[in-house]
Amino acid sequence: MKSALVTGANKGIGFETAKQLAELGYFVYIGSRDKAKGLEAIEKIKALGYANIDCIELDVTDINSIKSARQVLEVKTQHLDILINNAGIRGEVPQPASKVSIERLRLVFETNFFGAVQTTQEFMDLLKKADQPRIVNVTSDLASLTNHSDPTWKFYPFKSAAYSPSKTALNAYTVMLAFELKDTNFKVNCVNPGHTATDFNNYKGEKPVEQGASVIVKYATLDKDGATGKFFSEEGETAW
Ligand code: NAP
Repeated sequence: MKSALVTGANKGIGFETAKQLAELGYFVYIGSRDKAKGLEAIEKIKALGYANIDCIELDVTDINSIKSARQVLEVKTQHLDILINNAGIRGEVPQPASKVSIERLRLVFETNFFGAVQTTQEFMDLLKKADQPRIVNVTSDLASLTNHSDPTWKFYPFKSAAYSPSKTALNAYTVMLAFELKDTNFKVNCVNPGHTATDFNNYKGEKPVEQGASVIVKYATLDKDGATGKFFSEEGETAW
């Protein structure tokens, strides 16, 4: 059975992504930094009739936690087919570029950028054992420098100088990794779920979580002819 690990999947878009992958028949591991929340999440999915679900304690900012999760997973599965780096934080707002504290910047980058990078690196060997490994880095349209330079873009005034650059950096890392893996069976993409109603934005997002997660699932399950090293949203390819 193909397997998938979704970080930060005890709630929100990550939880829904895990649920949709379980529905597709993947054995899904819900990454949760809080074990109790992870167990609660898998019970909800099991209650829908899916037994192909488990949880793993995983804090993406803690290398020891990632290494332990990697060891736990190795016992449960020979290969990891899909890694979804979904765990993310916005950080306190506002984040004006001239004043945002370095501490806040580091905090946001710790999860959104370094967290995704170190998780990817630690799980790389298990991914390499899969026939067609897929990595999705969950990004945002707020990562797009093209959008941020377009005064007609609907989110043009939304300038958060910690959150947006952390996702822009994640996009850049995605391009570097996809290049390194271009002659393999890997597909590595960054995917924007779109403005989705979750705790992240006090449920002010326009999309239901099912819709946001389905974009991630689409690019996590690309076939062998699918794209790699790209930035996708529901509407298709997004400008960097
Ligand atoms: P959410 O409901 O706040 O969920 C975030 C998840 O990340 C939670 O499970 C949270 O765990 C987890 N997390 C945070 N820090 C973590 C860490 N250090 N280690 C492991 N897990 C951690 O937010 P969401 O809307 O589902 O967001 C999911 C992803 O989509 C994020 O990367 C976000 O940037 C991106 N995104 C969201 C939107 C949107 O409109 N919602 C739009 C574009 C992109 P706890 O429960 O323990 O806090």
